[in-house]
Amino acid sequence: MVRHTSAIETKLIHAGEPRIGGAVAMPIFQSSTYLNQGDTGYHDLRYIRLNNTPNHLALHEKLAALENAEAALVTASGMAAISTALLTVLSCGDHLLAQNCLYGGTHDFITKDLPKLGIAVDFIDGDDPASWPAQLRPGTKAIYVETLSNPLLQIADLKAVVAFAGERGLVSMIDNTFASPINFRPSEWGFDLTLHSCTKYLNGHDDLVAGAVIGRADLVEGIKHKLDHLGGALDPHACFLLHRGIKTLAVRMRYQSDTAMKLASFLEQHPSVKSVNYPGLENHPAHQRASELLDGYSAMLSFEVKGEATAAQKLLERLTLPIVAPSLGGVETLITRPAITSHAGLSPAERQRLGIADGLIRVSVGIENTGDLIADFEQALRP
Ligand SMILES: *Cc1c(COP(=O)(O)O)cnc(C)c1O
Repeated sequence: MVRHTSAIETKLIHAGEPRIGGAVAMPIFQSSTYLNQGDTGYHDLRYIRLNNTPNHLALHEKLAALENAEAALVTASGMAAISTALLTVLSCGDHLLAQNCLYGGTHDFITKDLPKLGIAVDFIDGDDPASWPAQLRPGTKAIYVETLSNPLLQIADLKAVVAFAGERGLVSMIDNTFASPINFRPSEWGFDLTLHSCTKYLNGHDDLVAGAVIGRADLVEGIKHKLDHLGGALDPHACFLLHRGIKTLAVRMRYQSDTAMKLASFLEQHPSVKSVNYPGLENHPAHQRASELLDGYSAMLSFEVKGEATAAQKLLERLTLPIVAPSLGGVETLITRPAITSHAGLSPAERQRLGIADGLIRVSVGIENTGDLIADFEQALRP
């Protein structure tokens, strides 16, 4: 089995490939149930909802190998991975420490759904580890962060998160969607659990919804049992598409990151642009930390134009290549204004506190030609 010894590009292609019947590409096993071969426990019966068809098992093996982790589990969406993992780690009476700038769906789940189950949540400043001990409670069980925040691309003190969790016996959890295993492998830094929306970079083609949990085998097994009951299993056809998409992750991510760096540098020097948020730029507050922790600066960036919301809207209308649509991580360049999409649910005051201006534009850089993309921004920014 190709595992910890190969480089990630090789593992993307070869890890966890069963080559069943000699098939070079993983076939779709479109069968809900399987011949009983002496399976005993409920969770071992072979059935799509129990997340153990050949399509599931091959993905589990590949995803665990990519992050050099013990185990992995695919789920029906990123939110299925996140909610099922949190519901496994936390029980009634427990308390969660969560970073104060999480993905909207996660934020809503932990603030609206978890309290109804008797699970309390407090938010931490990811940059200020000295403030965390005062927020502990007797029932604190886990600490939850994201590798790169949306849409400002901030990076918490991730080494401090792992150290703090270790000292206090907490489960450390990280949503690694924006970085992908190419740029960050949380298990290598001591995180217990990684969450992914595979809808984004791992699949990379804007054509499915899927999620993954990667990490410590004992925790992943517990999460699988919970998922077996909650029912958020990934369909075999979606498993197949995800499996196919993953193989090109390295070439996509590196090209996209390279273009993102060039686009960020172009925007930074443009007279109509007020500011650019990209961790690859030296003046980004997280630049030092990104350089230490990440293998690449990834392909998400955001920026503000002079003239606020009106100018931002005009720019979106003038661009011809980027598609105005939510989501990210695919081969097409996607562009949004967080104030009227991902962060529209927040009050203007809350957005201001988080630094999300009405004129802020977020770009998920795709794999179009770098020069074509920059030229498109150039013409759209012309006065
Ligand atoms: C999209 C996203 C999610 C949710 O994933 P779905 O696949 O849409 O359920 C979670 N976290 C981050 C960082 C995301 O970008």
